[in-house]
Amino acid sequence: MFRDAARRLGFECALATDRCHVLEDPWGDHAIPVRFEDPYISRDLLTEAGPFDGIVAVGDRPTFVAALTAEALGIPHHPPAAVAACRDKFLARQRFQSAGLPVPEFFRVPVNSDPGEAAQRAPFPCVLKPLGLSGSRGVIRADNVSEFQAAFARVRKLLESTDVAALREEQNRYIQIESFIEGREFALEGIVTRGELRVLAIFDKPDPLDGPFFEETIYVTPSRESETIQKRMIEVTGSAVRALGLTHGPIHAEVRVNREDVWVLEVAARPIGGLCARTLRFDQDFSLEDLVLRHAVGEDVSGARLRDAASGVMMIPIPKAGIYQGVEGVEDAAKVPDVEQVAITAKEGQKILPLPEGSSYLGFIFARADSPGRVQEALRKAHACLQFEIATALPVTGR
Ligand code: ADP
Ligand code: CA
Repeated sequence: MFRDAARRLGFECALATDRCHVLEDPWGDHAIPVRFEDPYISRDLLTEAGPFDGIVAVGDRPTFVAALTAEALGIPHHPPAAVAACRDKFLARQRFQSAGLPVPEFFRVPVNSDPGEAAQRAPFPCVLKPLGLSGSRGVIRADNVSEFQAAFARVRKLLESTDVAALREEQNRYIQIESFIEGREFALEGIVTRGELRVLAIFDKPDPLDGPFFEETIYVTPSRESETIQKRMIEVTGSAVRALGLTHGPIHAEVRVNREDVWVLEVAARPIGGLCARTLRFDQDFSLEDLVLRHAVGEDVSGARLRDAASGVMMIPIPKAGIYQGVEGVEDAAKVPDVEQVAITAKEGQKILPLPEGSSYLGFIFARADSPGRVQEALRKAHACLQFEIATALPVTGR
């Protein structure tokens, strides 16, 4: 999507992907091979491949390499230390606390600690979470000691699984415990320019997120919250951006709102993930990717305004673990008024896993309408048209 955007804008764009340098251009995209787990080596490789006018990280993991490279090249970008704090939920909480932002009670313990002892210190209700994963992966609510112990074992198993261990990230050696912040949840999409945050959109997450797992489903913008609360969300997110030290580039933040205040859950130093960015269209038909790229090379994008009255996306949740077989009803779903697109991203034969262990969706539904309420209704109607077939994955045993 970023490459297509670069083409449309007439930018020359080089991709860098995390892969083995021995393979000869496996995806035919001439990408520069880097290793996200070796950020300093990757930075040197990228700096040599330059000169570049701007750099954009797509997804969470490359944000650190991007920040290091930008620093080496002298390109305006969030600094590496700020990006590192965004990618570590313990560091981020410490920064928020020092800045006087409202934070839940929190502490972290090594993944091999005694769950019984950790439970003694836990405020209930609480959530347990890995420090460096994303998409709510491994985030589990616990209301008492026995739930805590079960959750702890589950997060530990996830962190020790081969795919997480292969990321080789220091922060995956800990589990964080936070008091549960009750309330409604929102996401803010923004761009920071020379330390100044501009919020492009506030998304309501209308489905309650009370646990025990925290599956993202519907995002709808504009928010239906009061002016006062929206202003407070922007203000608190701005403080969080400063507390983290983010200075230049896109951000995606998540906050919770209750009677007490606005609480920042996290700020990521990147735009909203993958296909969800399609929800946002700006004047002159600019996409979010267009804005982020133009901003990265130093263009002024402060005039960008959302084009649609209301828009939204549903990240289609995985109802159960198994082998994805197919889906029916996509045509009917796409015909629901105000629905723009139904994109099924699961592939036949693919093994799928719901939260808290899983890390993907079955697909996405996009809608645009004249009000957020209608967008939400359209997304729900379209989702109700879909019937997914998921076969139980049976372990194969030889006789
Ligand atoms: P990730 O980076 O995996 O998305 P988050 O810290 O954003 O991790 O947590 C994922 C979701 O879990 C949040 O969107 C929220 O719904 C829920 N959550 C996380 N921490 C808390 C908390 N302290 N209180 C209430 N809900 C929480
Ligand atoms: Ca999150």
